[in-house]
Amino acid sequence: MIDFSLTEEQQALRDLARDFARDKIAPVAQDYDQTSTHPQDLINGAHNLGLMNLTVPEAYNGGGLGALEDCLVAEEFAAGCAGVATTIMGNSLALTPIVLAGTPEQLEQFVAPFCAAPNLAAFCLTEAGAGSDVASMRTTVRREGDEYVLNGSKRFITNGGTSSLYTVFATLDPSLKHKGICAFIVPGDTPGLSFGKKEDKMGQRASDTREVIFDNLRIPVANRLGQEGEGFLIAMKTLDRARAGVAALALGVGRAAMEAALEYAQQRQQFGQPIAQFQAIQFMLADMAMKVETARLMVWKAAWLTDNGRPNSLESSIAKCYASDIAMEVTTDAVQIFGGYGYIKEYPVEKYMRDAKLMQIYEGTNQIQRLVIARNLLRR
Ligand SMILES: Cc1cc2nc3c(=O)[nH]c(=O)nc-3n(C[C@H](O)[C@H](O)[C@H](O)COP(=O)(O)OP(=O)(O)OC[C@H]3O[C@@H](n4cnc5c(N)ncnc54)[C@H](O)[C@@H]3O)c2cc1C
Repeated sequence: MIDFSLTEEQQALRDLARDFARDKIAPVAQDYDQTSTHPQDLINGAHNLGLMNLTVPEAYNGGGLGALEDCLVAEEFAAGCAGVATTIMGNSLALTPIVLAGTPEQLEQFVAPFCAAPNLAAFCLTEAGAGSDVASMRTTVRREGDEYVLNGSKRFITNGGTSSLYTVFATLDPSLKHKGICAFIVPGDTPGLSFGKKEDKMGQRASDTREVIFDNLRIPVANRLGQEGEGFLIAMKTLDRARAGVAALALGVGRAAMEAALEYAQQRQQFGQPIAQFQAIQFMLADMAMKVETARLMVWKAAWLTDNGRPNSLESSIAKCYASDIAMEVTTDAVQIFGGYGYIKEYPVEKYMRDAKLMQIYEGTNQIQRLVIARNLLRR
């Protein structure tokens, strides 16, 4: 049976997130963007409403909900501000390796206290020389008795420097490629952990992005996730899950741009009539609606597969690639519909366009998504 309706609980959750995004996030989105300020008050607010860490089991102070609920909230938050949404939803990405591969003891020790307060977490995979080619990472780990010692650095880490928990991927030996990668939980106050400067970004400027540096950082062996050499698999499984969430963020930005363009087109008068009367504008609006609606279908399908324990690699890559590509198109068209005003920071749509661009890049560029999609097709 196919059913596209949300349960009452899902609708209530979405409405709660929508109200928070409209009343609290959207009004300050331009300020946070221009000043590139860390949105701690919004993180506190989202946490107070129970809108963070939704996919962590309730036993560890999470929401005990599924990927679909996470996507519903991500869409709403991103419609308010993609930078704020990326900051908050970054926790889903960073905590998923622990939810997937952590022992009950690790969840109790690290995740339960983490989720009890408005904390942030960071997922540390990318390096300066290892972006799409994750397996070429150079951050090393060596075992010394009951401890591991980490050395190296990670690039472009969302919530780097503002997090209390880091999930870190490092290699026992770079020549082992993906077989040498291990995953670890690193508390934010561990000696040997430091951060680079905050990146000055094109968009999503409310989200902190920094280099994360490990200088002879020591952690107990008990902080390792899974077995030695399982880190690559843990990272890939995490990304398969998380991609629907990124797609939902892209969907939220695209939807917000469409709604802004729709409203503006009905108000703006040229040649004695609202520009919405011109077929050229109507067709752009119609294309926007088609793209936003079809992206949402794909986001929901990818999340549904995750929630039903089915393979989702193909669908989550399609969702991420498609939703972020259409977000770029829809936000660009929204700027076009606003005309010259669309290019001015006083109006909301130029920010949407800048914010959307990142979604085609992070958590696997859209070229890499197309590789994943093609490989899945050819394997069938
Ligand atoms: C703001 C921001 C936040 C981020 N947050 C995080 C985070 O929290 N954690 C984290 O680990 N990482 C994070 N990243 C890193 C992000 O995931 C990487 O930037 C991304 O995976 C691409 O890696 P790269 O930048 O090294 O590009 P490269 O891998 O160097 O790619 C450059 C270009 O080559 C293309 N390309 C590369 N390989 C292939 C191929 N085989 N076939 C076809 N085309 C190819 C790419 O698609 C791209 O167009 C973030 C990045 C940014 C900008």
